[in-house]
Amino acid sequence: MLRINGLTKAFGDNVVLDGIDLEVARGEVVCLIGASGSGKSTLLRCLDLLEVTDDGDIWLDGRELTDPAIDLDRARRDIGIVFQAYNLFPHLSVLDNVTIGPRRVLKESKADAERRAHALLDRIGLNGKATAYPDALSGGQQQRVALIRAVAMQPKLLLLDEVTAALDPMLVGEVLDVVRDLKNEGHTIVMATHEMAFARECADRVVFLSGGVLIEEGTPERIFTAPQDSRTREFLARYL
Ligand code: ATP
Ligand code: MG
Repeated sequence: MLRINGLTKAFGDNVVLDGIDLEVARGEVVCLIGASGSGKSTLLRCLDLLEVTDDGDIWLDGRELTDPAIDLDRARRDIGIVFQAYNLFPHLSVLDNVTIGPRRVLKESKADAERRAHALLDRIGLNGKATAYPDALSGGQQQRVALIRAVAMQPKLLLLDEVTAALDPMLVGEVLDVVRDLKNEGHTIVMATHEMAFARECADRVVFLSGGVLIEEGTPERIFTAPQDSRTREFLARYL
């Protein structure tokens, strides 16, 4: 479903992604792990076409995203991305935050978009907050809304960049519960995370990056219990 071949990205002389090859199957959850600066966010930003890549190609569902002739707005419609903070529009209610994309971009009617939004808000237990504004929600509640807002656009691929990193530790679990729920619903997810326990439990595959290089990938079981590369071992020793 997603295929990345030889993806390379530099900022000036700094090669941040160096020949990344990765395939992600439909319904798979892939966790990107690695030290700060290893290139996780840059990889996600390249997948969302927020960065221009220098070399290599990215394919989503048979379509080349790195084709220079591609319609960026159309291609981005297939991809949802959630960052670590400030995902919601502060001047819109929770309901409007969730419906604005489906109405403006997918051209859904107000009634259809609101019906779907209420169903999604129900799933995360926040339908009671539909008319509230983001600043009346906890950080965890805001991130839960941000996740279903991305899902409301019915993306083929969901990219999550450290969605719990800015949260009070007490609120991390409720956000990861939503991610787990999205996995169980069959969403295809690539997420950068420092939550090793979650990666271990929830990922189908874990990918370790170091210095922009994909050092190794495998099942969580293999990466966490039998890492092959010394860099993976050193990284995990600091976490586990
Ligand atoms: P973290 O765990 O801290 O989020 P990361 O793995 O997400 O780290 P990236 O943010 O992808 O790392 O950064 C990888 C490298 O790219 C770093 O050396 C960073 O300084 C550099 N970099 C990222 N964005 C830019 C930019 N817009 N301009 C210049 N350099 C950048
Ligand atoms: Mg990052």
